[in-house]
Amino acid sequence: MIAYASDQDDMANKGWVLGIESTAHTFSFGLVDPEGIPLPSSSDTLRPDVGGIHPREAADHHVALAPQLLKSILAREDISSKEIELIAYSQGPGMGPCLRIGAAVARSLSTHLNIPMVGVNHCVAHIEIGREQCGCEDPILLYVSGGNTQVIARLDGHYRVLGETLDIGIGNMLDKFARNHGIPFPGGPVVEKNASRWLDQNPDASLEGLELPYAVHGMDLAFSGLLTAATKMVGDGKSLDAVCWSLQEHAFAACIEVAERALAHTGKSEVLLGGGVACNQRIRSMSRIMCGEREAESFVPEPKYCIDNGTMIALLGRLEYDQGRLTRLDESAVDQEMRTDQTPITWP
Ligand code: AMP
Ligand code: MG
Repeated sequence: MIAYASDQDDMANKGWVLGIESTAHTFSFGLVDPEGIPLPSSSDTLRPDVGGIHPREAADHHVALAPQLLKSILAREDISSKEIELIAYSQGPGMGPCLRIGAAVARSLSTHLNIPMVGVNHCVAHIEIGREQCGCEDPILLYVSGGNTQVIARLDGHYRVLGETLDIGIGNMLDKFARNHGIPFPGGPVVEKNASRWLDQNPDASLEGLELPYAVHGMDLAFSGLLTAATKMVGDGKSLDAVCWSLQEHAFAACIEVAERALAHTGKSEVLLGGGVACNQRIRSMSRIMCGEREAESFVPEPKYCIDNGTMIALLGRLEYDQGRLTRLDESAVDQEMRTDQTPITWP
């Protein structure tokens, strides 16, 4: 990504920003209007009947759905493609075949409409939409999604990863556990339903007899041992609902503990949840309780801005472009391993 100082001159009259999200299972277009207001996305998520998300199948899904999703979002806002000023797309991290579809759509639109494009970091986009929606200033971000689990803070002009999963993302862990018991993708919401049914029927539920490995390693996390142990526990005859409840308690407590330590280390006073798993009521309430005990505040965006969405990509595109950044065609390749701390954060 490069900065063109002269492009700043043209920024007084802003147009619409179209954001393209395609890092994994979801293909999504989102818009930010000329006043900088984010508008809901037009999205579709691949939901295989059996098995998990295969990158190639997800990429095929994205190719098939892109034209109608684009038409529907432009029609909904009653704008023409000529009113778009900038194309933003997820450049990484994510699954290569999926990312490449989003980048290809971005390049085609940018070339066809003769407008600039900017490739952005998907994880940073989760942070910025959360800050925008919740009005928090300088939070510790607990980013809990399918493929990613990170505790992030803004320090010295970058979002630094203070702790992260050493193996699989928390959402992938929930999805795999669910799949092992015949529940199709996305399994996280079903695990949540099962867990709350168990709690309704067992208001005094305790972890006795339902202990699982605890996933904290210093400031990092690990979930594959938890997945194996929980799957075995059901195999050994414990009720699925009880294990769903215990699995959530263990996995979420680990994340909240690392977020709490990040608060203590940095002296910050806000926690912002992001990523699909942040739709879960239990992790939301754990974050509220922990923050309440530390005189900190817990924030969570609406579910539509927790899950992957094109709007957050458009919003980050707007921020980056206003800082004079854009992505040339010859530097638009995707980066599956793009790190959260690669993006310079120069906006307030
Ligand atoms: P993302 O990767 O951010 O789009 O989020 C997708 C992940 O969020 C999947 O792993 C889902 O299972 C998970 N997820 C969505 N809703 C919930 C929920 N209510 N509880 C737990 N996990 C959820
Ligand atoms: Mg995500």
